[in-house]
Amino acid sequence: MSATFVGMPAFPSAARAALADTQLRHNLAHATGTIRDKRARVVAEVEEWEDLRLAGAAVKQSALVDLDRHLVRLEETLTANGATVHWARDAAEANAIVARIARDHDADEVVKVKSMATQEIGLNEALAEEGILAWETDLAELIVQLGDDLPSHILVPAIHRNRAEIREIFLREMAGVGRPAPADLTDEPAVLAGAAREHLREKFLRAKVAVSGANFAVAETGTLVVVESEGNGRMCLTLPEVLVSVVGIEKVVPTWEGLDPLLRLLPRSSTGERMNPYTSTWSGVTPGDGPQEVHVVLLDNGRTRALADDVGRQALRCIRCSACLNVCPVYERVGGHAYGSVYPGPIGAILNPLMKGTGDPQTDSLPYASSLCGACFEVCPVRIDIPEVLVHLRAEVVDGHRGDRVPKAEAAAMAGAAWTLSDARRLAWVEKASGLAGRALTRFGRTRLPGGRAAAGRIPGPGAAAWTGARDLPAPPRESFRAWWRRTDGGRTDHTDTETGEGS
Ligand code: SF4
Repeated sequence: MSATFVGMPAFPSAARAALADTQLRHNLAHATGTIRDKRARVVAEVEEWEDLRLAGAAVKQSALVDLDRHLVRLEETLTANGATVHWARDAAEANAIVARIARDHDADEVVKVKSMATQEIGLNEALAEEGILAWETDLAELIVQLGDDLPSHILVPAIHRNRAEIREIFLREMAGVGRPAPADLTDEPAVLAGAAREHLREKFLRAKVAVSGANFAVAETGTLVVVESEGNGRMCLTLPEVLVSVVGIEKVVPTWEGLDPLLRLLPRSSTGERMNPYTSTWSGVTPGDGPQEVHVVLLDNGRTRALADDVGRQALRCIRCSACLNVCPVYERVGGHAYGSVYPGPIGAILNPLMKGTGDPQTDSLPYASSLCGACFEVCPVRIDIPEVLVHLRAEVVDGHRGDRVPKAEAAAMAGAAWTLSDARRLAWVEKASGLAGRALTRFGRTRLPGGRAAAGRIPGPGAAAWTGARDLPAPPRESFRAWWRRTDGGRTDHTDTETGEGS
């Protein structure tokens, strides 16, 4: 029961498939609209919201500017608190560390609290190869796991599923992996949550090893922080004997005080709540209380690559609130799977290319998965200028393809434009030809824009077919500006509009 993003198609093809799914679009529009409205209401209550955003951004930026120093400090304080710190350069190293710890304790299963870092590295699949089962305990993650599905939202991974679909999944799948769902299960949210609680409780009580992520890691005190809504995190962090936390290196916050703006920004931006129900903090091992063996895996996996990018490094400020997803007109229509990554939406469109690098069809397509409307920047609690990074990455993608033997349609069009515009005679010839095309379209064309102007229908050919398949291309003017200027001496001798034939 584990699906994977590996081998997903590039964004345009994946998005086309998602757009054809009307149930998915309905579920997404309903869910994102509800969270968006809740967020807007609670954010409006905070008069100094913009100051809070500036403070949150400053805390995260100060951590990134001096990341090496803060990470060494974090290792020192965690170790002093009794935790064991591991460093993982990539997914393979991190997975091997977690599997080794589980094997050392003869564990054939682990319980997990939702952790994007472990999804990013494919931990569940890696543990399964070692014969270790990983149980997701977050309700939405459980739905995704039981449904052999993929997460499609940072905060609400099963956002693409409605209540009836969830009931079916529970009835069909729970019995095969533990306590079955009650036969009279309804699709009432409270009833579904109750069934999940019963199903998970036995796993919490049985597991020797738990795996978590962390929202923040405080260097000053060696404290990890998990923010969640269901209490499953609290169970994972306290019941098992061994706790392994896989933490991206960008999660470091220099001081305890620095948590203040972040913990105020996060719940309002993510779930639209004034305060989140559970904030768990743990600083290593406390004798006789909670896990007696604590491991922290500090994960790079492309983060230092992103850090090296002057414009893109701001993406590492992300606190995974998902506000940018809920306001994004592209995400709302295609959902998360189209981004081919555990990080979807506007932040995924920049984070994936920054961490993995551009140069393959999947990451090259993501910076274009945006209308650049800027709504994501407006809502981002740590002021990540996502449109700026998108444009920067588009330039990188274009530069990366300059040497292609077969140029892309866009590059060929630009080369054609440069060839035409660099010579006055060529330009005059093209203007004449386009004027003739305009006359022909006006006389014989069947497509008309509002107001009556003629337009080209669908034009065949690479690039042109896709472009004109979704847009109207107005007929070119029958006379170019330069020709009109010559004929009328700059408008002094003739005021007739050659398009309409009317005097101005
Ligand atoms: S980029 Fe900003 S708005 Fe989007 S998930 Fe990250 S913190 Fe939230």
